[in-house]
Amino acid sequence: MIPLEEARAHVLARVACLPEVELPADAAHGLVLAAPVIAGEAVPPFDNTAMDGFAVRAQDTVGAPVELDIVGTLAAGADPAGTVVGEGQAVRIMTGAPIPEGADAIVMVESTELAGDGDRVVIQVPAQTADHVRQAGDDIRQGDVVIEAGTVLTPVHLGVLASVGVTTVRVVRRVRVGVLSTGDELVEGTAPLRPGQLRDSNRHSLRALVASDGCEVIDLGLVRDDKEAVADAITGAAGVCDALVTSGGVSMGDFDEVKAVLADLADDMRWMQVAIRPAKPFAFGTVGAMPVFGLPGNPVSSLVSYELLARPALRQMMGHGPDDLDRPRLAAIAEEPLKRHPDGKTHFARVIVRIRDGRLAVRSAGGQGSHQLAAMGAANGLAVLPDGDGVGAGDSVDVLLTGDPQPASR
Ligand code: AMP
Ligand code: MG
Repeated sequence: MIPLEEARAHVLARVACLPEVELPADAAHGLVLAAPVIAGEAVPPFDNTAMDGFAVRAQDTVGAPVELDIVGTLAAGADPAGTVVGEGQAVRIMTGAPIPEGADAIVMVESTELAGDGDRVVIQVPAQTADHVRQAGDDIRQGDVVIEAGTVLTPVHLGVLASVGVTTVRVVRRVRVGVLSTGDELVEGTAPLRPGQLRDSNRHSLRALVASDGCEVIDLGLVRDDKEAVADAITGAAGVCDALVTSGGVSMGDFDEVKAVLADLADDMRWMQVAIRPAKPFAFGTVGAMPVFGLPGNPVSSLVSYELLARPALRQMMGHGPDDLDRPRLAAIAEEPLKRHPDGKTHFARVIVRIRDGRLAVRSAGGQGSHQLAAMGAANGLAVLPDGDGVGAGDSVDVLLTGDPQPASR
């Protein structure tokens, strides 16, 4: 057996960052920016008001209450040309409207009262220069680097890009990931099960995981435990995919053809017995330029193996930095004992992580067998149990967060 760190390093040393491409900004959510974005314009583009109220000359409001003449109205979107605030005058103004010439402060409507026929306003409190004025460039100045290269684009960034009129960005593109299941026993969908058969579940989870990690998924279906069929599937994938995730066929069985085919097709195929539980067997090789992640078939094993070995590599291919490849690892309190026996492996127990009194707390998500996928469905974390006897209730335990921590009420 080899330590997980060695398997992970082996894989990461063999996957390269994909080329950068120009993409519509709105298609780049979650991708890594390859070149900085420079603002060609300021935001806001002009001085404007943060409040509904009256644009005034601050000096005219000294000694408030004072009464001013209303000489105009400016709504958001109005062109301020020709609207001027002179001595003793005010302009009615709405949030977002440009500050008219002559005015240097805004009095919010709550601090005013209409007078005369509604053509005059009483300013009840004195204004200070620049009150409620949002300066041009307050958010972004022209020429600013608004987003640095290497940034992972969030929904907020898409808004920032739109705010400066940027519609395309240079990013590292999504990895096109082929996903296929192998196994003579596997049945697709709702077809009746004959003796010895079971339904393919791995492909369904893996496709969704791959997509949620920002990759483009190419569904390569089910492949029989037949050397030629597996070879055809892998060779075919190499023509269209940047990476391939397979499940099944990498153990010690007689019909574990993925391992055998990779040994033929890949120059650098390495079959590993990783010192972890679940997910001990793992095969990796490069076919053409396409890395192949040969995950084990047991449903829980395939997903844990994906998390620990494939996901970091796919993220590296998409330009994520070395400290941003893995799930966050945090200390948590074990709410109950998480027991195990010494076997030379690190165990990854599927746990429910919740926030209790502002801290992370974990408890078992249920059955910990590598075939017990339903229990894993409740898990949002993998508790890291180093070789030994596990942890007792109240002990600290590290957990990899695979989902958001849940509220204490769960
Ligand atoms: P293998 O790694 O091919 O030896 O498969 C190990 C175990 O996982 C066997 O019990 C298989 O039936 C099961 N298995 C393999 N592939 C899948 C799959 N795609 N969905 C559900 N179970 C699977
Ligand atoms: Mg199999």
